Amino acid sequence: MYDAIILGAGAAGLMCALTAGQRGRRVLLIDHADRPGKKILISGGGRCNFTNLGIEPSRYLSQNPHFAKSALRRYTAQDFIDLVDRHGIAWHEKTLGQLFCDGSARQIVDMLLDECEKGGVELRLNHSPQVEHSDGRFRIAGAEAPALVLATGGPSIPKMGATGFAYDLARKFGLKIVEPRPALVPLTLSNEQALFKELSGVATEVVASAGKTRFREAALFTHRGLSGPAILQISSYWRHGDPIAIDFLPDAPAHWLTEAKRTRPRTSLRKLLGETLPDRLAHELAEQLALPGDLHNHADRALTAAEQRLGAWQFIPNGSEGYAKAEVTIGGISTAELSSQTMEARKVPGLYAIGEAVDVTGWLGGYNFQWAWASGWAAGQAL
Ligand SMILES: Cc1cc2nc3c(=O)[nH]c(=O)nc-3n(C[C@H](O)[C@H](O)[C@H](O)COP(=O)(O)OP(=O)(O)OC[C@H]3O[C@@H](n4cnc5c(N)ncnc54)[C@H](O)[C@@H]3O)c2cc1C
Repeated sequence: MYDAIILGAGAAGLMCALTAGQRGRRVLLIDHADRPGKKILISGGGRCNFTNLGIEPSRYLSQNPHFAKSALRRYTAQDFIDLVDRHGIAWHEKTLGQLFCDGSARQIVDMLLDECEKGGVELRLNHSPQVEHSDGRFRIAGAEAPALVLATGGPSIPKMGATGFAYDLARKFGLKIVEPRPALVPLTLSNEQALFKELSGVATEVVASAGKTRFREAALFTHRGLSGPAILQISSYWRHGDPIAIDFLPDAPAHWLTEAKRTRPRTSLRKLLGETLPDRLAHELAEQLALPGDLHNHADRALTAAEQRLGAWQFIPNGSEGYAKAEVTIGGISTAELSSQTMEARKVPGLYAIGEAVDVTGWLGGYNFQWAWASGWAAGQAL
């Protein structure tokens, strides 16, 4: 007999378990993997980008943009930093408010397990649970509790043990699912569009935009299309069939090319681009723009058109690299089904959903772990 059974010993499940356990609840935490927190271990290139100094609800995608506000306000980035500090884990800010361990992501998992132990949480690994529900009680693998927390994440990176289990179970309980799709994922280009195939491996800082959303970060050409932080970020906002635009020269002032024609008429576009961009990229862009020779040979109109193209180069991705490469899944258990205070399902008392399983998805850069901590904490307070 337990007060709560939590399915999924990932970021959200561990935080929920330690919070409820330390409040005196008897907690059973179950995972089908052979070790807890596998995604934490590989996150942030092995250093776990565990939160971000710029956490705010507008940096999360959800059908209900207000849903995440309560949990994010009640368990903040500073709360997690305090926990990390209490465990003596050294960390640093890398860029754009992203906080990483100096050492290894292993320290974050050990910290969460240590806190679970303090709360007397019982952990069962290698368990694929069958859930039964009757008389207001949940029965799983011989255990029973009045509360069940779905913390099994989303289907991104199936080879890490990720599944759509949370969605299947939620559907069984009559909860709606917002159509899931891979996010924070490299985008692919068709053969005709993969103008830049020879550029595989070249990276440069750009502004990538989809509709009104813009991200200024590095983009990376791959043999299948586009990747790098700017592209991963924009992939969450991109829909099939839509174009994305890339500004290859985000710092260039307006009319820079016609201006260059006046001040340096005997310079070529290829040379000018090479002063700012990686050499191979400068070469390829100049080829595409087809304005050979010195700038003074070309009409202002042609140079203005080239400048505009360089500032908003259009790509129409034909897809993404899918769940195999997606850092997260957009969509999931509809927030309309849940209390934003406790994460409990309105229709099914005692059933909770937290973390990536829920239709709340953050930007790249520690935002997704902060949602896992905050939603796990909110449910842990309510159990
Ligand atoms: C390569 C990579 C790097 C990332 N880096 C970062 C980063 O640096 N910063 C950041 O904020 N976010 C990062 N993310 C995203 C982040 O890992 C997730 O948003 C976060 O782990 C979600 O937490 P969760 O607890 O909801 O799900 P998960 O951490 O995925 O945990 C779900 C758990 O449920 C278990 N499970 C699944 N199905 C079942 C089942 N049927 N039965 C029992 N157990 C099951 C899994 O084994 C897993 O332990 C990264 C993701 C990836 C893939």
